Amino acid sequence: MIPIPSKQKKTKKVSSQRLIYKSESAWDSVSGATAQAVDTYAGQYKKFLGQAKTERECVQVMEKQLRQQGFQSLSGKATLRTGDRIYKSIKGRALLAAILGEAQKTWRIVGAHVDSPRLDLKPHPLFQDSQLAMLQTHYYGGIKKYQWVNIPLSMHAVVHTKQGTKTFVIGEKKDDPQFIIPDMPPHLGREQMSKSAKEAVQAEQLRIVVGNRPIQNSKEKERVKLAVLDWLHRKYGLVERDLISADISFVPAAGPVDIGFDQSCIAAYGQDDRACVYATLAALLKIKQPKGVALGLFVDKEEIGSFGDTAAQSRLLDNFVIEVQRKAKLRCTPAEILEQATALSADVTEALNPNFKGISDPRNSSALGCGVSVEKYGGGGGKYSTNEASGEYMNWLVRQLDSVRIQWQSGEFGRLDLGGGGTIAMYLSRYGMDTIDVGPPLLSMHSTQEITSKIDLYNTYQCYRHFMQI
Ligand code: MN
Ligand code: MN
Repeated sequence: MIPIPSKQKKTKKVSSQRLIYKSESAWDSVSGATAQAVDTYAGQYKKFLGQAKTERECVQVMEKQLRQQGFQSLSGKATLRTGDRIYKSIKGRALLAAILGEAQKTWRIVGAHVDSPRLDLKPHPLFQDSQLAMLQTHYYGGIKKYQWVNIPLSMHAVVHTKQGTKTFVIGEKKDDPQFIIPDMPPHLGREQMSKSAKEAVQAEQLRIVVGNRPIQNSKEKERVKLAVLDWLHRKYGLVERDLISADISFVPAAGPVDIGFDQSCIAAYGQDDRACVYATLAALLKIKQPKGVALGLFVDKEEIGSFGDTAAQSRLLDNFVIEVQRKAKLRCTPAEILEQATALSADVTEALNPNFKGISDPRNSSALGCGVSVEKYGGGGGKYSTNEASGEYMNWLVRQLDSVRIQWQSGEFGRLDLGGGGTIAMYLSRYGMDTIDVGPPLLSMHSTQEITSKIDLYNTYQCYRHFMQI
């Protein structure tokens, strides 16, 4: 007997692989040489985080690394040509760095911010109370105040004394003293514990202990405060009035650490947005010859609304483009360059958190370990306070990433109507340039220890690097 051939036409099997989108762990594709590269990158990144805890330190470390790789100060160059590597520091608190390729009218911009939430000091911060010398702080950026008590803090200061400007850091080196804001004990905290988290520790209670030992053999009233001033004067030549104009910040003293048995994650202060700052810097240091102009834009004051002379809402980008256009003798206007530029707003997003699932829509959130997150929009309250990238631009970008196997994912910043957050994307888009939010997801954003996955950090770096050179 022979089988009777079926008269039915052969239909193509429905393939879930072809039709269904799946976001998978980026770790799956890591082995051998890539694993080594991920580790090496993470190691260099942690070193950077440990050295760059304020916007000034960030710019300082970047400038040093850029100069070592042949980047020259833009102001020192009369003319520019293809292959030039240039940078411009804006008052030591923001920075732009670029590599000029052949196509000098095509700019690819990656913009990150160098500032992170922290505790600054009030103009008259030092006082004595209960035998303690204390410093009164004024918080910077969006913090949950209860997170800043009972953790060791380090002090980062730029003070202008009679003898000149003094820059110093206390609490980062081994054996350095550190500082702390004392909370109250649970035994007496019945009233505190019944308050909302917002009220439990209030802004005016964020006062830092800086001394307890009084000046001896003195009839002065506030001998502990005096002893602190005496110490500061002997060490740095500063007097109390110098504190009024000083830039002094307190940040978590803890350095970056690996997290997990598998050491797959990193916990550290300031990863928003230094994860993106470092990825952009590392990309610039690695790129040999971009097609157009590869520009890293590192702005300050994002955490307080991007207002100010070193922030994304200032003209620092315009000024840079004007200077390059003139010195490179480009036959187009700065406005045309900016309008035709394409940009990545390099900033972090909050990842799915198993402890607080309620803040995210699980199907529309990025997860740690699934690659760099490409988000069409951020903001909140019905796409308010954001720039929504066009579908054309987003589609172009993710196809570019697919073509070189850079793992990406996409989501939104949290569940609808819970709040939201903006980035500098909306300020970049003002020029008419295509802009989209791209960065690694993290956990505990704006906390004293933010958590990232090493594989996402590596994919973020790869993404920025690829984007800036095509
Ligand atoms: Mn940010
Ligand atoms: Mn932030």
